[in-house]
Amino acid sequence: MTVAEAIRAATETLSNTSDTARLDAELLMAHALGMSRSDMLLRAMQDDAPGEFGPLVERRAGHEPVAYITGVQEFYGRTFAVAPGVLIPRGDSETLIEAALEVVPNAMRILDLGTGSGALLLTALLEYDGSTGIGIDASADALQIARKNAQSFGLDDARAQMTERSWLQDGWRDDLGEFDLILCNPPYVEENAALEPDVRDFEPGNALFAGPEGLDDYRIIIPQIGKHLNKGGAAIFEIGSNQVKDITEIARKAGFFVELRRDLANRPRALVFR
Ligand code: GLN
Repeated sequence: MTVAEAIRAATETLSNTSDTARLDAELLMAHALGMSRSDMLLRAMQDDAPGEFGPLVERRAGHEPVAYITGVQEFYGRTFAVAPGVLIPRGDSETLIEAALEVVPNAMRILDLGTGSGALLLTALLEYDGSTGIGIDASADALQIARKNAQSFGLDDARAQMTERSWLQDGWRDDLGEFDLILCNPPYVEENAALEPDVRDFEPGNALFAGPEGLDDYRIIIPQIGKHLNKGGAAIFEIGSNQVKDITEIARKAGFFVELRRDLANRPRALVFR
């Protein structure tokens, strides 16, 4: 069977489990071939399909996310390593980067709360020339991935400091200092939400769930960040599309002006606090 034929058959198989069956099949085949998707599409379609492809398709048919199978995910045009201990960066979260670049055009000090794979912090550091920042996360597994990503982009510890700590513990922010930009994609899923099996069965619950209304982490973090913002700085939080009102209220009580940003699907996706 050729690569083209195997992709076609896998697309058929995966159409039951995935809305992006063709793309999934292409990404898995490119991974099996050890080449980029574009190289594969340009020059490998008539080659023999590799034996490694079948088991990868099986895993995807069992709802395992493509990113965990291939170990990588694109975010803001760059390739990030991911593993089951970190949330897979979503395209929706690029909304935070776009808002940041507009609202704080010259950020030099950046903090990312719950950095996970490091996607938000590292993207910001790469977009703001000469900036430095701190990524914090409660998960040692996540920080290991975040550090690996920092290295792969040539960002040393002086530019991207990754630190293990939890905002559930007192003193977590004592020595953090001040920032021009604070980014945060906290857990915000309601604890009883019906998630797709791809997310529910594979991604880390501690990066997703935040109490009965998905608001627990906002309630803890937002009142604590004012002290850590430089004059002219902003904090930008990802939110669930149905949480605008609740989180706006939490932020107003904490003394912030609040501005809403929408994602590409025009759903509310981020709140800017100043
Ligand atoms: N947007 C994620 C989802 O689709 C949730 C991310 C989060 O809780 N920070 O499940």
